[in-house]
Amino acid sequence: YQAKREGRPVDMYARSRDTADIGRLALSVELPRAVAEHEFTVNFQPVVDLGTGEMISAEALARWHHPQRGDLNPNRFLDYVERSGLLAAFSEAVLDQALRAAAAWNADGFAVPVAVNISPRSLLDPSFPEAVASRLEVAAVPAETLIIELTESLTLSQLDVVDEVLGALRDLGIRLALDDFGTGYSSLATLARVPVHELKIDREFVAAMEGSAEAAVVRSTIDLGRSLGLLVVAEGVESERQRGRLWELGCPAGQGHLFGRPMPVHRLLATLRRGYDGRPGALAPSLHES
Ligand code: C2E
Ligand code: MG
Ligand code: MG
Ligand code: MG
Repeated sequence: YQAKREGRPVDMYARSRDTADIGRLALSVELPRAVAEHEFTVNFQPVVDLGTGEMISAEALARWHHPQRGDLNPNRFLDYVERSGLLAAFSEAVLDQALRAAAAWNADGFAVPVAVNISPRSLLDPSFPEAVASRLEVAAVPAETLIIELTESLTLSQLDVVDEVLGALRDLGIRLALDDFGTGYSSLATLARVPVHELKIDREFVAAMEGSAEAAVVRSTIDLGRSLGLLVVAEGVESERQRGRLWELGCPAGQGHLFGRPMPVHRLLATLRRGYDGRPGALAPSLHES
């Protein structure tokens, strides 16, 4: 009895860990169905001109609309997708939805480019640019409509195939953005090697901008981007104070909850039709992603 009682907490721990493992396993086992049943959807978040408040583009952010678990964010499933052999199918679903959205906005008179996040693994696939070109053709939108966001490409950019893929994408007329700039793998070495059009300052630095070190990082990133002739976008702008500070430092564009959370495609269109001006509150709370 004594032994059994002592064993109990251990058993409970083991059981809860098993349950978590089963949860993870279930998600990866469900991936083929998710692709087949079109459970991957895309929400769109405005990127705003900090001077005029105009929407200058929208970033497509993947969601898994899971029949039982509700909407899952990429941090819950992206790892599995990348390891699953379904990455190409997933990327194509995201790209198609993003380009279809841009085509719809275009048809409505709003020339809003759409930014799509690309897994670094796709840059190792020499057929990727052709796949993108054919999706552009299907959606009947010009290549300039598409911005491809890259991250973690430092090690990858040492490979010739990555240079070729990025070069081919650029040659198509697609814009490239370096995402999460300043963190981990997305840094100066990448910038020196990969010819991008746009730099996105990671929200970690924007959030900590009250600190002098972080403020210096933000300031020098803005200066660096501008001196290279790149569009600089600050990620994770949440307060009026941050917006003001960024504008003072010369940052032309921003994205974050202050301007709008990621939202379904029809809501973004409704927002454009209402005359979005980037004012806090210009998006009613009901338009926000829950
Ligand atoms: P990211 O590309 O840096 O996207 C910005 C993330 O910050 C999004 O998280 C967005 O919802 C969140 N965000 C935006 N504004 C704010 C803010 O003001 N405050 C805070 N706290 N967060 C904000 P999300 O949608 O969960 O995506 C996470 C990451 O997953 C993305 O980071 C991107 O790296 C990746 N991802 C998203 N969609 C795709 C996709 O279709 N393909 C690939 N390969 N990766 C994707
Ligand atoms: Mg991004
Ligand atoms: Mg980012
Ligand atoms: Mg980020």
